[in-house]
Amino acid sequence: MTTTQPEAFTVHRAENNTSDVSAILPPAGHFIAGTFVPGAASTAPIDVVNPATEEVIASVHAGTAADVDAAVAAAVSAQRTWGNTTPKERADVLNLIANIIEANRAAFEAIESANTGKPAAVVEDDVTSTIDTFRFMAGASRTLTSMAGGDYATDHTSVILREPVGVVGVITPWNYPLLMAAWKIAPILAAGNSLVLKPSEQTPLSTLKLAEVLAGRIPNGILNVVTGQGRTVGQRISEHPDIALVALTGSVVSGQSVAETAARSVKRVHLELGGKAPVVVFPDADLRAAAAGVRNAGFWNAGQDCGAACRVLVHESVAEEFTRNLVSEVSTLVVGAPEAGDDVEIGPMISRPHFERVKAALSEARAAGLTMAVGGSALDGTGYFIEPTVITDVPAGAAIATHEIFGPVVTVETFSSEEEAVARANESPYGLSASVWTRDSSLSLRIPKQLDFGTVWVNAHLVLACEVPWGGFKGSGYGRDLSLYALDDYSRTKHVMINHGA
Ligand code: NAD
Repeated sequence: MTTTQPEAFTVHRAENNTSDVSAILPPAGHFIAGTFVPGAASTAPIDVVNPATEEVIASVHAGTAADVDAAVAAAVSAQRTWGNTTPKERADVLNLIANIIEANRAAFEAIESANTGKPAAVVEDDVTSTIDTFRFMAGASRTLTSMAGGDYATDHTSVILREPVGVVGVITPWNYPLLMAAWKIAPILAAGNSLVLKPSEQTPLSTLKLAEVLAGRIPNGILNVVTGQGRTVGQRISEHPDIALVALTGSVVSGQSVAETAARSVKRVHLELGGKAPVVVFPDADLRAAAAGVRNAGFWNAGQDCGAACRVLVHESVAEEFTRNLVSEVSTLVVGAPEAGDDVEIGPMISRPHFERVKAALSEARAAGLTMAVGGSALDGTGYFIEPTVITDVPAGAAIATHEIFGPVVTVETFSSEEEAVARANESPYGLSASVWTRDSSLSLRIPKQLDFGTVWVNAHLVLACEVPWGGFKGSGYGRDLSLYALDDYSRTKHVMINHGA
């Protein structure tokens, strides 16, 4: 396939390439029972780095098992009262949380941007979606019912109660730190549980900021935050006997470790893990719309998205035209630090190790003889920037098209029949999301039904709404975020049977 190599990308930077958030940083401490406290043991702090500038912008405590234990004790005590509140009372608190975040929107955007290097459009969307998540869960919790009761044994009436599960442990990733926290906190509180949350050690600041602005405004102890590493704080959350359920958004390896540990106390587990979303383009598709869709959904948040449109499977008869459109779309992406302006679309990789991982995947693809139709390299200078990349002529089973790269890299493979498209799309250890591009109404239903993914879009990709569930199959985990299904996941049902015979 022949494509013209576009002009090289450069990193747009502000003249003064720093992001000073020191005046609005949250306190460094664990948030337990409504206040910030130092760690129980003195451990070396964890530096928090701005990946666009490589500056250390804060440091937080490396929590220990004792800190988790203190947070769980606070959560157990708070849950007794919180679990007995009415849905309306809980909805009032969730709406208050939404209003407080909205009132502090600028601070959340600045902190998230400084901690992740995300462009303005991405942090704005993150905060808007965070607010909407709390508002949706406030309303949704008031609609909850359980199955109607009835008489199923003579003289016995059954009533089905829906109850909170108790204390939930939450472990969040670095790619959407505030939003992924909101996807857990909102339904967990709405269903009457309390929680102990460990943010990613790389991106704890927006979660700590949330704790700071909520301190004294919501019941103490319903939301506790312990910062630190997965192998200590995450491990203790997974094993703590008073935690009824542990919910993790993160990589497959972390999910496996959490599930293994949780099994010892027969804890419920809720896992939102990795993804490698196929984008299946049929010959009758609007090829321009499909290319524009991949430009957005493959490169949003620099591709550091579990649902990223990163693996195109296009029918061989239109592969050349589609690829030309895609290369032309991707060539116009603007890379840079968030302070460089609102035009910036692609920020840095989150950390140096992740940057090195993406670079290694690109080198391997190059060594395997694959074509870099656009991009393909790291960008020089400060910050962990990678060029937006489209790799073509990718054969079935190539490593770059089967492993999660989690960067601004889209691969293009071809197929020759409907059966092959479905089989190849499903040939993945992941099952989080996929998209199908076609104008044929029959294909638009037939293909999604055959795809083994928790979300399948038709003529769209990465469009989310709070009303509909998000979650995967296979290696992408189990459990659902968003929607009434999340409230189900964080509730338990109890059968009460009353003998009213004489
Ligand atoms: P990660 O698994 O490295 O870390 C996620 C969290 O788990 C962090 O807080 C980390 O400290 C903790 N952790 C790590 N090892 C642990 C252990 N053994 N026990 C307990 N906790 C542990 O993932 P990441 O690099 O932060 O995030 C990227 C990954 O998250 C990608 O694979 C991505 O696909 C996935 N992700 C999935 C979704 C989804 O909705 N399915 C959303 C966002 C991110």
